[in-house]
Amino acid sequence: MVLESRQSEQSSFPSLMPVYNRAKLSFDYGKGAYLYNKNGAYLDFCSGIAVTAFGHSHPYLVQALTDQAQKLWHCSNLFEIPLQQKLADKLINFSFADSVFFTNSGVEAIECGFKLIRKYFDDQGAPHRYRIISCINSFHGRTLAAISAGGQDKYKQGYAPYVDGFDHVPFGDSDALAQAITPETAAILIEPIQGEGGMAAASESYLKTLREIANQHNLLLFFDEIQCGVGRTGRFFAFEWANIKPDLVAIAKGIGSGFPLGACLATQKIATAFQPGNHGTTFGGNPLAMAVGNAVMDLITANGFLENIQEKSKILFIKLDRLKNKYPHIIMDIKGKGLMLGLKLHVSNTDFVNTLRDNHLLTVTAGDNVVRLLPPLIINDTEIDEAIAIIDATCQQWH
Ligand code: PLP
Repeated sequence: MVLESRQSEQSSFPSLMPVYNRAKLSFDYGKGAYLYNKNGAYLDFCSGIAVTAFGHSHPYLVQALTDQAQKLWHCSNLFEIPLQQKLADKLINFSFADSVFFTNSGVEAIECGFKLIRKYFDDQGAPHRYRIISCINSFHGRTLAAISAGGQDKYKQGYAPYVDGFDHVPFGDSDALAQAITPETAAILIEPIQGEGGMAAASESYLKTLREIANQHNLLLFFDEIQCGVGRTGRFFAFEWANIKPDLVAIAKGIGSGFPLGACLATQKIATAFQPGNHGTTFGGNPLAMAVGNAVMDLITANGFLENIQEKSKILFIKLDRLKNKYPHIIMDIKGKGLMLGLKLHVSNTDFVNTLRDNHLLTVTAGDNVVRLLPPLIINDTEIDEAIAIIDATCQQWH
């Protein structure tokens, strides 16, 4: 039997569901901090939205993936996957966590956290404690539960009824958060740096206060480090700057550096709530993803790597600050932390991103009229200077 072709049918309907306003641009290949097509090189300060932490085609990651591809792609979590154990051990060794669940994406790591929180309180004989306090302007992904947790209406429109159990308070306001606690509250969910929402970095004192509030009320503290974690701020987790420990953390993006991989990390106290059958995934933690994740961890934990990110961040920040002073009518503020920086603009962030792209610098917009600058963590001084020159030239175009 031959599959019947529909080629003769004429349709103007897009064969890709049109949920993206895509730039009319595609790339043939990437190397380091650059993407290439027939028009030449584009300096990539988008990094697939904070994903390609080691740039494109990093030889160590390519080797790890291709070596594994010759051996075994997939076998299911019905069997032991030694590389999973190895990556979990590495993550535990460098973190607060005692146990890890691997996923394919950020939102699945968030969902895993939601389920774990509910199951934990259910096991305590307190199933009525299921509500999670999250922040206005937050972004936690696109599943129904994640848009319900998120604090941005634009992602929710058309999807009612939402998943019950999320209360929203202003980001940075610990008093408002404390007031929102009820006998039903189970956890606090926070991005230490709001990415999508506009690159707002939580202060260290705010994060510390959240830990205290959680302790006082026996709440779980759940950090969404999907964008800001895995080295992006110059520490493995962004929360480490506040010298506190959460109960759960979701990571993704950088840990796979372009290969789909996420993880929900939790302390033993919480993770014991999961027993065989309580949660699962077909693809999460498959050997290909694990080979890449282990290689990423080798690179991130190399001596001096995180310190170098802090150094590059300082250089980039100082140079951006000079541009802010040079173009105060265009650049209002510099936001974020580490290599997760944002330019809050007086002019349209979308127009600015489009012009930067025409000038061969790739960036991405965020809420609050911000342009996100998310270079690969391996960015060097020459590439920083090139980005600064392009931003400078782009500002000139607004004169
Ligand atoms: N949480 C944060 C903070 C994110 O930035 C993102 C993605 O941008 C997500 C969750 C969702 O991750 P994913 O798109 O991999 O599901």
